[in-house]
Amino acid sequence: MRFFQPLQQFGFGRILAETRTHFPLSPGLISIEKPESINGYSAYFDFPLIPDFSSKDLVDLKLVWNISDSKKERTLFESHQLSLQPYYPSYAPEQISKKDYEKYLENFLSLPNLEKQIFVLPLNHYESNKIDKILESDCSLIILNDLKKLFTNQRKLAERMTKLRNKLSPDIGLYLPGSVSPAFYSFLSYIGIDFFDNSFAYKISENGIFLTEDGVFPIDNHPPCFCSHCSSTPKNIFGHNEQVLKNAVARVDFALNNGTLRTMVEQDVHRNITFAATLRHLDKIYGELFRKRTPLVSSAQVRCVGEESLFRPVVSEFRERIKERFRPYSDSRIVLLLPCSAKKPYSQSRTHLMFRNAMKKAGSSIFSLLSELIVTSPLSVVPRELENIYPARFYDIPVAGNWSENEIKITSNLLLDVLSHYHKDSIIINHLHGHGYEDIVEKVRKNTTLNVIDTSNKAPTTSHESLKELSNVLATTQEEFLSNQFTKVNSNTKKLRAISDFQFGPGTGQILFPSKVKLKGKYPRSPQIFRDGQHIATMHASTGFLSIFPAYVEDISNISLNKLQFGANYVSGSNVYAPGCLNADERILPEDEIFVVHENQVIATARALVSGLDMNKMTSGKVAEVKKKLKVNK
Ligand SMILES: [Zn+2]
Repeated sequence: MRFFQPLQQFGFGRILAETRTHFPLSPGLISIEKPESINGYSAYFDFPLIPDFSSKDLVDLKLVWNISDSKKERTLFESHQLSLQPYYPSYAPEQISKKDYEKYLENFLSLPNLEKQIFVLPLNHYESNKIDKILESDCSLIILNDLKKLFTNQRKLAERMTKLRNKLSPDIGLYLPGSVSPAFYSFLSYIGIDFFDNSFAYKISENGIFLTEDGVFPIDNHPPCFCSHCSSTPKNIFGHNEQVLKNAVARVDFALNNGTLRTMVEQDVHRNITFAATLRHLDKIYGELFRKRTPLVSSAQVRCVGEESLFRPVVSEFRERIKERFRPYSDSRIVLLLPCSAKKPYSQSRTHLMFRNAMKKAGSSIFSLLSELIVTSPLSVVPRELENIYPARFYDIPVAGNWSENEIKITSNLLLDVLSHYHKDSIIINHLHGHGYEDIVEKVRKNTTLNVIDTSNKAPTTSHESLKELSNVLATTQEEFLSNQFTKVNSNTKKLRAISDFQFGPGTGQILFPSKVKLKGKYPRSPQIFRDGQHIATMHASTGFLSIFPAYVEDISNISLNKLQFGANYVSGSNVYAPGCLNADERILPEDEIFVVHENQVIATARALVSGLDMNKMTSGKVAEVKKKLKVNK
């Protein structure tokens, strides 16, 4: 069993806990003491370690988890003490020869299980096929002793790390020893580092440097600080500097817990031009690897900072799902394109209330024909039915109306994709206004066979003139379709079907909500959903997503994308553990509502802790928390 267990996943960033106690340990700062005899620093365990690797001087190395003694006692109980670990000392030659590495590997693998927990991986062996052997063991912590060599080439650093992290199971912690500026912590955590240490504080304190959250200052001229280390006489500079590191780790931890790490990274990378370029590169080349590990079920505000936000994993995932999973209601014949609003959900904004009024003036029968698409950046296209789900209800952008080339291209492409699923007689009503929108509609017009009518090209969308034009055009357009036979579907049913398709896969909405549904309870309380008098699901007000009772999941279990194949016919306890998992759908994201299936029967619903991709990699620890179990007659 591995020492760590991921409690939360956000891209390659994770909260790791001790497996048995679930006490959170990462992101963490490891304390080191400065051994006088060694040039530089060395990491310590607080119990003796034997460097098994070579005949180098046997020094007592200690590594102290930075947690309070009372908690440590609970966390590191005897059977789990990382004692007698092989440790590749940091003072060993940086370039380890192939022969030495193999010898080390051999030694490591021949250790008894309990001791096989910490492995040192030199940079030039990241892609070695020998690592597979390590992954089969209980190895829990990998020390990347010389990763820092890539710090001058952030792009290469990000690439190597992404590849390595993708290969490793998420319950393996990565420790980057040595002097690392806290300005890098958020980015390094985002690409998968779990532990840093306090050696940076030693290094700069020795050089007379005073660290603050946003810079370094000479010891005799720095901004005032009122921490206990600065208030004492004499000032404890090391204590102060170390405190800044602890705060920086705590800041990353907070962002991971709140699902806002990406926003933090986007803000932090602007302090460093190379990092900003690296992030864009990562999104472009490895975006999918991050996307498949980033939760979509969330209620964290998506603060879009700049162009980076366009390729933010959660934003790409939204666009991808609109493309792959959103299918317009079959009777839709009039597609209305509307601009977004700062207030979310859009329908509660002043502008959208005005649009709604204009629609009503065209007559109430318009609504069975109408499909509303909100055109916006960076999400591109938000169907009205999905305006309440994450991230549609939770994003904000500093300046609306300024569209970059990329935004125009991405948005018009997605819009064309969505439009291709409407009936061939459908008519598009373009109620958008302004430069970027003009370019988008122009591209659409050129590439669609559907007829496009403008209602707001001369005046702003909320002007009296434009609104009147909208009502008139809707009224005349609807006449064209009045001879058709349409089934009346209430807007709740349409909405629930769209959410279900988006969440569980295309076609599931039609099966779960074939006819009229009833919702009880209003925002901010979570509405309960009833079908034929049966309580079948809950719509969570905080995220906009659904929870379905296991008995009703049965109906969609063969087409759903959120399945976890389980080896037994019941789940004991309140967690699903990795050894029982036969296979997880790789489209499962952390935090997703998933269905635990045994031989085609849904035995429970659960909340995923890690992505499906990573569930398949884990060999121990829990992968999901059970929400509801199917009642079985024994
Ligand atoms: Zn201070």
